[in-house]
Amino acid sequence: MPAGSPPVNLLGFSPQALEGWVVGLGEKPFRARQLLKWLHQQRATGFNDMSNLAKAFRAQLSEKASIRAPEVIQDHISADGTRKWLLDAGAGNAVETVFIPEDDRGTLCISSQAGCTVACPFCSTGRQGFARNLSTAEIVGQLHLANRLLARQAHRLDSQGQPARATPGQALAPVSNVVMMGMGEPLLNYEALVPALQLMLHDDAYGLSRRRVTVSTSGVVPMIDRLAQDCPVALAVSLHAPNDALRDQLVPLNKKYPLRELMAACRRYLAAAPRDFITFEYVMLRGVNDSAVQARELIALVTNAEVQCKFNLIPFNPFPNSGYQRSEYRVACGFADRLTEAGFVTTIRKTRGQDIDAACGQLAGDIQDRTQITQRIAVHGRQPSCVRP
Ligand code: SF4
Repeated sequence: MPAGSPPVNLLGFSPQALEGWVVGLGEKPFRARQLLKWLHQQRATGFNDMSNLAKAFRAQLSEKASIRAPEVIQDHISADGTRKWLLDAGAGNAVETVFIPEDDRGTLCISSQAGCTVACPFCSTGRQGFARNLSTAEIVGQLHLANRLLARQAHRLDSQGQPARATPGQALAPVSNVVMMGMGEPLLNYEALVPALQLMLHDDAYGLSRRRVTVSTSGVVPMIDRLAQDCPVALAVSLHAPNDALRDQLVPLNKKYPLRELMAACRRYLAAAPRDFITFEYVMLRGVNDSAVQARELIALVTNAEVQCKFNLIPFNPFPNSGYQRSEYRVACGFADRLTEAGFVTTIRKTRGQDIDAACGQLAGDIQDRTQITQRIAVHGRQPSCVRP
């Protein structure tokens, strides 16, 4: 390590890269597996407790390496148990991580970029513009941090010395599922994403099954194909519209990769996918994409494309000056009924954590509003558009 350079952050190493690094220090390859367990299963934050590693090796680690998850700026717990962290991404930027507890699982929604270039006009993440890609350490660090803080929450005692009561929905459950559905387009940060996914899946790290790790994309067609080759996990696609004319507006990336190409990529992905369906996410926008005609168009789209799929309808989470409104509940139910009657498993996502601004990008947007965004608007002369549901 050159003098003055910061110690390498071990959270950023894929299992293979960590082994190479450990061997480079003159240790046996199995030491990398031990280290991996300490880092990701024991959620270590330092090297002193790594009792099955020789003292000399620990001393080397302390000198050459560090374990740095992103720093928490804010920590909110909703009345429904949803927990949301606002994390420092440097230079006045912030990203969000959300834990959603349910009866049978705990899902962590992870961010991949500070901001996003796709600029869907209904998404508040775009209010920040695009700052930068997160590193592998910052992506997997969100899981490291959440598991550590949730374990601490589980062990916290109340003032009488009794274990703290679980909040509704078993808020104390550990992370059992990961969705790459936070801020940013994960497939536009592919080189950092894949090692993070490998760590999530690796038995000596987080050991999650491929079915429990979902990458959500707005439709970066070439990278969908690469993901199928490199690390096939469950795939969700933010569809939001049944035709190119409307999708060009709602998901501007559609102009580059229109629906015909996207559907073909989904069909190809299914050959490698751990599940036999793609999940199509569809944010319900009042009077924009929620009519009976559009439901029929959507059915025709996926039927003609022969893509095995499920639908997840997402109630829009309004934010100031978005220009969009949430579809009425009865309209969303009618839309869902049409899809269901056509034979598609369809769910309407429960809104969670509304008391803590759980619509992705809202907290980070607040930070940005207080830091750089006002200047950016002044410089570029436009109101940034974009709130991920
Ligand atoms: S919805 Fe997703 S892809 Fe679109 S701007 Fe928001 S974060 Fe980016």
